[in-house]
Amino acid sequence: MYVIMYHYVREIKRSIYPNIKGLELEYFKQQIEFLKQNDFKFVSLKQLIEEKCDSENSVLLTFDDGYIDHYANVFPILQQNGITGVFSMPGKIIREKKVLDVNKIHYVLANTNEIELRNKLFRMLDYYRGTEFRYPSNQELYNKLAIESRFDCKDVIFIKRILQVELPERLRNIITDELFKEYVSVDESDFVDGLYMNMEQIKEMSYHGMEFGIHGYDHYWMDNLAETKLIEDLESALDVFEGVIDPQNWCCCYPYGAYNDRVIQTAKQLGATSGLTTNVAICQIQKHGVYEIPRLDTNDFPPQSEYYLHTN
Ligand SMILES: [Zn+2]
Repeated sequence: MYVIMYHYVREIKRSIYPNIKGLELEYFKQQIEFLKQNDFKFVSLKQLIEEKCDSENSVLLTFDDGYIDHYANVFPILQQNGITGVFSMPGKIIREKKVLDVNKIHYVLANTNEIELRNKLFRMLDYYRGTEFRYPSNQELYNKLAIESRFDCKDVIFIKRILQVELPERLRNIITDELFKEYVSVDESDFVDGLYMNMEQIKEMSYHGMEFGIHGYDHYWMDNLAETKLIEDLESALDVFEGVIDPQNWCCCYPYGAYNDRVIQTAKQLGATSGLTTNVAICQIQKHGVYEIPRLDTNDFPPQSEYYLHTN
């Protein structure tokens, strides 16, 4: 079966951020039509985990990061078609109403070009190096991190990795904030309301049968966290979703797809019964196991591409 992953789903070209990387709403509608016309059977996470519904033509739709797009654009379309989706978002966006660094980086990237931003970042790294923060030279960092991915060129990956995980956390926050103010420059609290869904909307979706996953509290690379911090992050997330997510039976959607055996064991001890990764494969639940469910990206399916036909 196919598990498909979505992030932003909106009218992008006509929005005030036409360069944000995401799926045009029109393409989402076309993708649902494509799946219906090709006799795909939409299953829920519960059906996949408890009844092992993973026949070749089944599909599960998953939506990460809690964007308002999922409530305003996706939810009505799923409802019209009687489809269930899995929505996983960091606890922090609900409880603290802060824009996550990962999203600040998306909007900074949408408002500038990566070469300008990379050079700006080099200058900032030079400025902060040797103060209270210690880290390697720009060239060493660049050689280590700038490795292109399926969807991003190497400079974009360098910018993302250095600000998501590589630098000391406090410095990551400082630099990301500075860049957000310079390139996006909007009131952060207004921005939050236009970016994420809220608890009221989550409860409405849950009432109508949508499923919710735990995506950590702070959207950390979980494989990189000390054990106590990992437990704290997962417990805080569970606390936010009390009443929506069953603390004894939940799905861990690993932020950035970053996990290892220790992360799985810890999540399991805290009540997780499944896990969503970003490993690229067709899902065979017996083979992959419930804690390492692979996913394809929305861009792997029509109308974007036919890459899904060439995975194994
Ligand atoms: Zn995420």
